[in-house]
Amino acid sequence: MQILVKCPKCDAGLAVDAAEAPAAIKCGRCGRDIPLAFSDALRSDTAVDRCPVCGGAEFYLRKDFDPKLGLTVVVIGASISALFYWFGRDLIAYGILASAALIDLVVYGRLRDVTVCYRCHSEFRGAYARTAPAFDLHTADVLELEYERRIGRR
Ligand SMILES: [Zn+2]
Ligand SMILES: [Zn+2]
Repeated sequence: MQILVKCPKCDAGLAVDAAEAPAAIKCGRCGRDIPLAFSDALRSDTAVDRCPVCGGAEFYLRKDFDPKLGLTVVVIGASISALFYWFGRDLIAYGILASAALIDLVVYGRLRDVTVCYRCHSEFRGAYARTAPAFDLHTADVLELEYERRIGRR
């Protein structure tokens, strides 16, 4: 399992392999030592049960997707299709627009879910079974506040 640890101090993303399970890492940006506590499930890539960074057990799933990439495909598709439309090739124009939307859908649908820690926003990628629920704004508000108080940001 690959874990993107979010530094509690500066929010830098630090990639860690759970199989190696280092007891601590040093943030490459701000130099802060970040102690990590890996559970057996994390090490063996079977489940995300406890966050190694903050110890939290609340996670949510989101698509491992860069929204900017999807938008680019649609924008490029729309510009090409506008060109054909301008020259009176309506059907081709609609066809290109439809394919751009379709490519977007396929790309989106094939992406795997990534599990994210509500508190510290660390991300977990691997072959483990996805069990976390979808994002809930209220839960996020409560848990983020709790975490930020604990690490002294608020
Ligand atoms: Zn840092
Ligand atoms: Zn966490």
